[in-house]
Amino acid sequence: MATDAKGQSPQVVDFALSPALQQFVAEVRDYCKNHLGNAAQWDAEVRFPREPVAAAGRLGLLRTTVARDYGGSQMGNLASCLMLEEINAWCPSTGVTISVHNSLVNSLLGKWCTDAQKRRWFPKLITGEWLGAYCLSEAFSGSDAAALRCEAKRDGDHYLMNGAKLWITTGSEAKLFVIFARTGADRVKGISAFVVEKDWPGVGVGKKERKLGLRGSPTTEIVLENVKVPVDCRIGDDGIGFTIALDTLDGGRLGIASQSLGIARAAIDLIKAHLAAQVDEKGRPTASQPDQWTLADLAADLDGSRFLTWRAALLRDQGVRCSTEAAMAKLSASRLANRAARAAVSILGQAGGSGASAAERILRDARITEIYEGATDIQRLVIARGLLAPA
Ligand SMILES: Cc1cc2nc3c(=O)[nH]c(=O)nc-3n(C[C@H](O)[C@H](O)[C@H](O)COP(=O)(O)OP(=O)(O)OC[C@H]3O[C@@H](n4cnc5c(N)ncnc54)[C@H](O)[C@@H]3O)c2cc1C
Repeated sequence: MATDAKGQSPQVVDFALSPALQQFVAEVRDYCKNHLGNAAQWDAEVRFPREPVAAAGRLGLLRTTVARDYGGSQMGNLASCLMLEEINAWCPSTGVTISVHNSLVNSLLGKWCTDAQKRRWFPKLITGEWLGAYCLSEAFSGSDAAALRCEAKRDGDHYLMNGAKLWITTGSEAKLFVIFARTGADRVKGISAFVVEKDWPGVGVGKKERKLGLRGSPTTEIVLENVKVPVDCRIGDDGIGFTIALDTLDGGRLGIASQSLGIARAAIDLIKAHLAAQVDEKGRPTASQPDQWTLADLAADLDGSRFLTWRAALLRDQGVRCSTEAAMAKLSASRLANRAARAAVSILGQAGGSGASAAERILRDARITEIYEGATDIQRLVIARGLLAPA
């Protein structure tokens, strides 16, 4: 191995978390223990975990991606990923609420808004007094986001907005919506981004979706009828909305990669506990070898996906573009979450497929990680494009 002038090997990569991050993770674990124990009940009752989300606000967990100048803790993407893995191991409905608020809304405002805009909205967002929602998808525009039809027509000092956004996480609870709307004819350069507040005339919450998983997280339609959006609520220049949307999704995908890690970890923990209980009279493991191999494969892949996620988060924290790396992290972690959840249901047998263990809920919650913020095939598309791009 190469050595430096003092004969010491240079340290290239450090996988250990700093003491400050370790302390933060310990605090988040306390939050999870104290506030997220009723995830099964919220799922069964299709109930939004309002108190836990409010507690997250009180404890500073809704300000990790906001700069100190605006009251944030400026902990960045790696800290946010660590936090989201912990929270999602307990309750993915709470996890997605916090992920969207931090990774999609706060990050976007922090990067693209003016100082005056940040001073207007951050005081409410960092405490959780207001929750944020990210509104890109529409009935005919999911993977193909540039096909969106929601329209914002300039009329003097405001835009007149009309359209409907679909599948919006936290739609019925959020007070601030980031809306992507068409301001010009060009498919990509004709899209702009806006902040729209829930209480404005013409803003409505439409139908609430009935979902396979994440049942505690309300997913709704957002209806916009002749909404007068002041020009000073446009984010960035006219026509750069698509760039903002895609850039923000790089960070969002890290949030969903972390959600997937948490879900995978919860499934692996169930398998571990189940197999560890299978012992002979001398305490030696008696679990079948195929089940042990499954556990070993999942545990190895969990560490692999976690390192992919940390790498992309560190790049983003350093201001380096990480579309390929973020897509790799999400692709790998979301596939793992689904594989681990399926294995947990199989290995736990009767308890796995019923409400007798958490495995059934974990399997339902895992499914979405391969769909939103870019379906699995879209991640593969992004990665392939990154790999084949001219140097
Ligand atoms: C629970 C939930 C919460 C959501 N929250 C939000 C939110 O907060 N904000 C928001 O804006 N949206 C949200 N969405 C929408 C989500 O981002 C879209 O569902 C997702 O982008 C996929 O779009 P689609 O459902 O229209 O599927 P489609 O775009 O129709 O894709 C279906 C499948 O077709 C394939 N496919 C499509 N295009 C291609 C292609 N070019 N190449 C290869 N394969 C392709 C993929 O396999 C994909 O899985 C949410 C969705 C769900 C289910």
